[in-house]
Amino acid sequence: MLVTMKNGARTEQVMRVRDCAERSGLRTKEIHSAAGSLVIGLVGDDSLCPMGLEALEGVESVEKEKHPFKLASRQYQNHDTIVRVGDEVSIGGQKIVVIAGPCGIESEDQLLDAAIAAKDAGAKILRAGLFKPRTSPYGFQGIGLAGLGILEKVRDETGMLLETEVLHTDQVKLVEPFVDMIRIGMRNMQNFDLLRAAGRSEKPVILKRGCSATLTEFLLAAEYILNEGNPNVVLCERGIRTFMTETRNTLDLNSVPLLKSMTHLPVIVDPSHGTGVYSLVTPMSRAAIAAGADGLLVEMHPHSETALSDKAQQLTPADFRTLMAQVSAVAGAVGRSM
Ligand code: PEP
Ligand code: MN
Repeated sequence: MLVTMKNGARTEQVMRVRDCAERSGLRTKEIHSAAGSLVIGLVGDDSLCPMGLEALEGVESVEKEKHPFKLASRQYQNHDTIVRVGDEVSIGGQKIVVIAGPCGIESEDQLLDAAIAAKDAGAKILRAGLFKPRTSPYGFQGIGLAGLGILEKVRDETGMLLETEVLHTDQVKLVEPFVDMIRIGMRNMQNFDLLRAAGRSEKPVILKRGCSATLTEFLLAAEYILNEGNPNVVLCERGIRTFMTETRNTLDLNSVPLLKSMTHLPVIVDPSHGTGVYSLVTPMSRAAIAAGADGLLVEMHPHSETALSDKAQQLTPADFRTLMAQVSAVAGAVGRSM
């Protein structure tokens, strides 16, 4: 619920509304609306909302939110969230941020070569997957914790910021000292324990859209993280399951401007898993930035012909450089820069 106070409502009147809601088990968030009036958001289970709030002195109106999510909604925060990664990178501002690297870490040399190529081409964060969530139990499952030392080495040698996917709650604390961002993948978008664990993390979180999730479900998943106190969530569109068989997924670029209107959180796009097709990665990257995405998550492998996973979609370093040049031109055309 959103309680709008009358202009000039007194502090004690505001306190009374807050007390009343908090006694019913809700949390309150003060929001200054665009019209300048004070709005109090009631965070929690709406069915606990006390009756008769409208009748309290100083209250102008009480209305239900447009969406079932709250903290993720623009009704609760109209200005864009800017997620800081490390000391120098911000996602959600004027600059487009590109995250690139292999599907999974295979060896120290592979990650180091990928990091150097990504950095040289202008990527700001390195994809560095230790744990691979694979459809088949026979597929490459990732190097696992044995790769932590590789993360450390690559970080020291290149100064790149790193992100990695976590598959279960225990991994959050384990990877935290080694990376600058954690990622929750498509398959775990509704792993609520994992979302809560990420919500208790100090690190920013990339949350990928489930392949059959509506945007409301996606934002309710983000709400789990926000509700635990971590405000630094970056949403990632990575394609949805449709009748199409020519591509791995259908990259739903409608979601970019739609999400931007529904939420203040930054939105990035993964054209690699979104298409699964090498030749589509660069055109769909251009399209994503034209549609208003704040960044990209791109798979690039120094020797993609030998990749242990997702061979069909990982760019070579040379093609990744071309992608960066083209995306930079599109960014300029839509008032952004790299
Ligand atoms: C990934 O980015 O490594 C990945 C597994 O993607 P998704 O969760 O979108 O399938
Ligand atoms: Mn992959």
